[in-house]
Amino acid sequence: MKFTSQEQIEKLAEFRSEDYFTTSFFLDTSRDRMTKKEIEISLKNLISRSTSRLEKRNLDSKKKESMFNDLKKIQDFCSQKLLFYDYEGLSVFSCSGEDYWKVFNLVRSPRNMVIFDRNPYVRPLSAILEQYHRICALVMDRKEARWYDIYMGEINPINQMETDLSEHKGETGREGFGSQSLEKHLSSLFQTHIKKVSNETFELFKKDGFDWLFIGAPEEYFRELESYFHPYLKERMKGVMKVKPSDSPDKVLKEALKIKEDLKKEEEKQIVKDFESELKRGGLAVSGIRNTLRSLNKGEVKTLLVTRKFSKPGRLCPKCRLLFLDEIECPVCKVKTIPVIDVIDEAVEAAFNLSCQVRHINSASRLDRYGSIGAFLRYKS
Ligand SMILES: [Zn+2]
Repeated sequence: MKFTSQEQIEKLAEFRSEDYFTTSFFLDTSRDRMTKKEIEISLKNLISRSTSRLEKRNLDSKKKESMFNDLKKIQDFCSQKLLFYDYEGLSVFSCSGEDYWKVFNLVRSPRNMVIFDRNPYVRPLSAILEQYHRICALVMDRKEARWYDIYMGEINPINQMETDLSEHKGETGREGFGSQSLEKHLSSLFQTHIKKVSNETFELFKKDGFDWLFIGAPEEYFRELESYFHPYLKERMKGVMKVKPSDSPDKVLKEALKIKEDLKKEEEKQIVKDFESELKRGGLAVSGIRNTLRSLNKGEVKTLLVTRKFSKPGRLCPKCRLLFLDEIECPVCKVKTIPVIDVIDEAVEAAFNLSCQVRHINSASRLDRYGSIGAFLRYKS
């Protein structure tokens, strides 16, 4: 099932077992960044890491057996599924002891992880929803307007409207209705049309609350539209599409997604730029793995920035779950820390647990100059 809504999260979060743990599994399956082979390898690594983690856990055998079964089922399922899979991510929630099994296809890559817990671990799903923009696409010409809802790569028509221009036909030759007044008449019809379109767009906004408004219309309409648009709509106008009402929804979607990609890139660039200037003025930001882990451990992090696919081994305190790059002993608990294959994964998970935002930045950004990881802080101690 494709993951698209808060309702799916809520339904998932309702599941709870008294006797068993649930295994929550997330796999990055983006074919843009990885080959099929690489995805298979990361699946294998993730499962074997989780298996050895599970072996070390001190739990009764009934619980453990259920979780081992989960991992086995997930591995078998994924090896099959990945042969023909074109989503960005895959998540599975399984509790074999209760015969519970739920699969979600994700339109955005998660970090690879397996979590064993009392109930399904839904934070990565919430993070996907948070990062997704609902787009309203308005496509119009002189007499027609169509509205589409675009969300998670899917397009759905939501409304359409036609302004009847037939009135003026045949009136051209009528006495007293010269070309000047006809022009006036047409212009007032056009004004009415634009006004109706902008009112309807605002109604749709009040109903669906979209984040971005993309418009496909002749260039000369924009000033008119803007003069009628509510400020809420004006601030959401983010793109101009080269489409007309007679174009297919597929074409509208393609245009809209192109604009969306550019906006995303722009947004990422802006975040990194803000981060850089915050660092340079010694403000509320830290960079590099060591400083970032330190701030995360102290609970100072507001937003964690990390370059996609960046990973590094590190250490974890088994008692308090603090993260370190190379501390052999936890300075708080004085117990020996354990090695983890990817401390970045652990940091992302910790960030979710602390309700921090996590922003994945595509590689080759300026974040790479600062150690590929950093954070905006709530405060600095
Ligand atoms: Zn500790």
